[in-house]
Amino acid sequence: MRAVDLIRKKRDAGEHSRDEINFLISGYTRGEIPDYQMSAWLMATWIRGLSRAEIAVLTEAMLHSGEVVSFPELPGKKVDKHSTGGVGDKTSLILAPIVASGGLHVPMISGRGLGHTGGTLDKLEAIPGFNTALTLADFRRVLKECGMALIGQTAEIAPADKRIYALRDVTSTVENVGLICASIMSKKLAEGIDALVLDVKTGSGAFMQKEEDSLRLAELMVETARRMGKKAVALITDMDQPLGRFAGHSHEVIESVEVLKGRGAADLRDLSIELAAWMFYLGERTKSVDEGRALAQKLVASGEALERFRKGIVLQGGDGRVVDDYSLLPQTKNLVEVKSATGGFVAATNCMEFGVALAMLGGGREEKEDKIDPGVGLEFHKRIGDRVVSGETLVTIYYNSDAKLSEAQRRISESFSITPQQPVPKKIVRRLVGA
Ligand code: URA
Repeated sequence: MRAVDLIRKKRDAGEHSRDEINFLISGYTRGEIPDYQMSAWLMATWIRGLSRAEIAVLTEAMLHSGEVVSFPELPGKKVDKHSTGGVGDKTSLILAPIVASGGLHVPMISGRGLGHTGGTLDKLEAIPGFNTALTLADFRRVLKECGMALIGQTAEIAPADKRIYALRDVTSTVENVGLICASIMSKKLAEGIDALVLDVKTGSGAFMQKEEDSLRLAELMVETARRMGKKAVALITDMDQPLGRFAGHSHEVIESVEVLKGRGAADLRDLSIELAAWMFYLGERTKSVDEGRALAQKLVASGEALERFRKGIVLQGGDGRVVDDYSLLPQTKNLVEVKSATGGFVAATNCMEFGVALAMLGGGREEKEDKIDPGVGLEFHKRIGDRVVSGETLVTIYYNSDAKLSEAQRRISESFSITPQQPVPKKIVRRLVGA
């Protein structure tokens, strides 16, 4: 078999056999197929799409590219959550300690920033010393001691996704239902969980912007999880505007800690509690989602979830003092405000553009080897439905380098649509799939 023939087959809208997909995934993971051929295949796939059968085989091939771990030594259920990605989406940092302090185990394999979206691993690495590249033995040890451990794909677990994810990020081949399903589910099925809660974003800051596409992705992932014997549910949630008040790595760590202290933005708090509630329910820790919600709220109010986060940071080599002293996190030297040129109500935002502007300022990657500036951030002062007067601040930009500042300012400013009529706000959770 030759990669070049398989690229041509997909380019010409052919359907791959199991052997062909296995050849591509194992060859690329072993370094026998070069980046340029995999990039061409990814682009052909992005354009032509994958059949349901191809998606199932691709997911399995990526899952079995490494070890599938299990934790028979740990009592109780192991649960996790994965989001399809958005701007300001930091719920993993909040709900992993909530759920771990509630008595379930959360073995979480996450990703880095992808496209215009931020990644859990990059956010955690804003904490000085935090190690997201634990060995499998350390992953087990931390999970046992703390009830949660957050790492990235490794050479041992989901190595195919580790390589393909980084390549998709810089080749504009992210927004494809089949590739997203295989990427997410290969990581999640490798981490030894019993149940999975999926947060499928929809709207202008999501990879799947139309609700019907998000629904298709949600159904596909729930079906994949269940086929592999896992409980799963998907929440289709709003990404027409950033989640919470901040985007950017240090800022998102602070905002997460604020929610764990019982403060923080209402939308972020509500969604985190909702996702944690479903994790408690699917993990059989509570008899209902309502009970799960009450438990999650209690663990935040008592400070147990916050203490669990501090413990997790320390066990993964990080400086636990950041929980009390935010100045230990990387900061920027400068700030500038983007002001509204007109008055009215915020009717909509082109949320993806916020993520693109953030990346331009150093808060994301444009090439595979780019280093992130974790201090860079955006603070959003207005949400959809808010009244704005002319000259009022819409966004504060925290930055170090002004090389692309004016371009970022322009993009942010043009992302707001301000109208004389006040829009009707939409709910954060739009739909449930598989409940
Ligand atoms: N999250 C992932 O892990 N993979 C994707 O492809 C998109 C979001």
